Amino acid sequence: MATIFSKIIAGEIPSYRIHEDDRYYAFLDINPLAEGHTLVIPKVETDYLFDLEDDLLADMMVFAKKVALAIDQTMACKRVGVAVLGLEVPHAHIHLIPINNLHDIEFSRPKLKFSDKEFRVTAEKISAAMK
Ligand code: 5GP
Repeated sequence: MATIFSKIIAGEIPSYRIHEDDRYYAFLDINPLAEGHTLVIPKVETDYLFDLEDDLLADMMVFAKKVALAIDQTMACKRVGVAVLGLEVPHAHIHLIPINNLHDIEFSRPKLKFSDKEFRVTAEKISAAMK
């Protein structure tokens, strides 16, 4: 069965898209730790990040870098934190989280709520800053 992220890539489930190319897709996390919390995923369905082929994994980090630089420019943060968990969705992904302190990237913290319009505005801002 397709993962929820494959359904997002296929457009069967809506998402707040930031950027994509033929191999990767970046979109806002629906239960974010911070405004601009973004997920980067490979379009190929693989559960565990470290099962990806070397090239696909290496290029995924370069793709994530471009997204992270756009987040850096548009969100009020000291830097973009990177996390890999994969405990909830069995489709490899990298979390990119704008952070100002250690607390901002604590996954046990209550998640933030944004309206549809707020999510759209955030995604548009980051997306527009993509080089
Ligand atoms: P993990 O697998 O890394 O533990 O967590 C999966 C992440 O995916 C969570 O932060 C969760 O909020 C996010 N997530 C789960 N389902 C969806 C979804 O349908 N849409 C979006 N945008 N994010 C999701």
